[in-house]
Amino acid sequence: MDVFDHGERNHVIVLQDGYSREEDGDETAMRANCTCTLVRCRDGTNIIVDTMTAWDGERLRSLLSNQGLGVDDIHVVVCSHGHSDHIGCNYLFQKARMHLVGACASHRDLYMGYFASGKPDEELKLDSHAEVVVRRSPGHTLSCVSVIVDNSQLGGRVGITGDLFERREDIDDESIWKDAGSENEKLQRQERCKMARQCDFIVPGHGPMFAVTATMRSQLKQNTDISS
Ligand SMILES: [Zn+2]
Repeated sequence: MDVFDHGERNHVIVLQDGYSREEDGDETAMRANCTCTLVRCRDGTNIIVDTMTAWDGERLRSLLSNQGLGVDDIHVVVCSHGHSDHIGCNYLFQKARMHLVGACASHRDLYMGYFASGKPDEELKLDSHAEVVVRRSPGHTLSCVSVIVDNSQLGGRVGITGDLFERREDIDDESIWKDAGSENEKLQRQERCKMARQCDFIVPGHGPMFAVTATMRSQLKQNTDISS
C-alpha cells in the first residue's frame, strides 16, 4: 500500500544511476544501462521513467520496494526513447494506465493519439495539477521525450531527459553524447541548450542527476552558436 506523505511537493527519486563506458579490451563494444527515476506526484500519481534492460526486473522490484511501492503502484510508464536499455522492464507494470515509449503512447493494444499534432511544444500532463508533463526533446532519436517536473522537493524544476544528456560531463566534452548516437546533432544541441535554460536540475540518460549552473548554460549556448 502507498502510504507515502507527499506533502506539497512532487518528489523526484533516482532509483539507479545509469552508466555507459567502453567495454574493457573491446573498443567496438559498450556497457550501458539507463538512469531509472521514480516521480511521486503530490496528487498520488506514481511515474517511472526509463525501465532499464530486460534483465533488471528483480532489481527494479527491489528498488521500488525500498520506496514502499510494488510494481502495481505505478500509474504511468515513460521511456525517454525506444532503445532496449530504457524499455526492458515495461512488462512489469501491468496496472499502469499508459506506457509512453518516446512519443508513442499505448495501453495494452490501444494506441493513443498524443503527440500526433506535429507541434514541437505539445505537452502531455501526467498529474492533476499539471506540474508534471512530458514533452518532445528530439536529437538522440527523433521520437525522444523528457519528463519535466515543477514544484519538486529539490526546490526547482527537474528535467528527466533520457539521452538528450548522456551525463554531466558531456557538456564540456561533446564527443560523449555524439558517440552515444544522435539522429540529429544540430537539433540535439538546440534542445540541450533549451532544456538547461528551463531546468534547475537534469537527470541524464546514463549518469547521476546534476544541478544546472550558469556556466553550463553559457557553455551549451556557445556550442549551439558555434555550430549554427
Ligand atoms: Zn541510452
